[in-house]
Amino acid sequence: MKVHEKRFKVEVLSDTIELDGPEVQHMRVLRLKPGDEVHLFDGSGWEAKARVEHLDNFTATLTVMEKFQNDLELPTSTTLALALLKGDKLADVVRACTELGISRFQLIKTQYADVPDLGDNKLVRLRRIAEEASKQSRRAVVPEVLSPISIKQLPSVQQGFVAHPGTTDTLLGHLKWEHEVWFATGPEGGFSGPEIELLKQKNFLPITLGKRILRAETAPVALLGAIASSGV
Ligand code: SAH
Repeated sequence: MKVHEKRFKVEVLSDTIELDGPEVQHMRVLRLKPGDEVHLFDGSGWEAKARVEHLDNFTATLTVMEKFQNDLELPTSTTLALALLKGDKLADVVRACTELGISRFQLIKTQYADVPDLGDNKLVRLRRIAEEASKQSRRAVVPEVLSPISIKQLPSVQQGFVAHPGTTDTLLGHLKWEHEVWFATGPEGGFSGPEIELLKQKNFLPITLGKRILRAETAPVALLGAIASSGV
């Protein structure tokens, strides 16, 4: 009997689980056998230890032995409103911020955006990257990646921070874990003046990420990094 460190994603953690698709292919590649134990997670915070009962080329049956809630999440829900970026930069941000504990990505279209919109294929790819990064960092929550909306469509938030060069307020000086939190980071060309005004009206406080100008793909990682290195 082997106990696999590898974690598999399931839709619902019921007592008995029938799987097909890529997770089964993965189990075949790892040469799992009936009796072996694996780790399952459902993407919403639940994990389980489960035993493989049956595995063939296409399907697997598992019995859940022990179910528990994973405590690796940040103290409250966190959403990153992330401006669209060129090439693989969005994928890099989604991967790193998932490792750093973000709960959700809301892609945003901005005035000086590097790209005007995002195709469905790219969105699917970003969601897969979030799932892989979540597995890799042992989280049990897979952050949602929400399709792009304009800044106008963002909600008014209870607690929000927008990274904006030339400001002096700091994230850790203001962040309160009692409330859910939103972050916003801009495209390579930055947010326009009217966009910052709009974000302020929606209760986003402009904050600094230091005196240097960071690239658009570095900024969200620096922001989440400050939180992660504070130890939560
Ligand atoms: N061209 C812009 C810089 C944009 S940097 C200018 O010269 O002002 C891209 C994004 O990263 C910004 O919109 C902001 O959200 C973030 N960012 C980069 N460096 C930052 C800093 N030092 N402080 C706060 N936010 C920063």
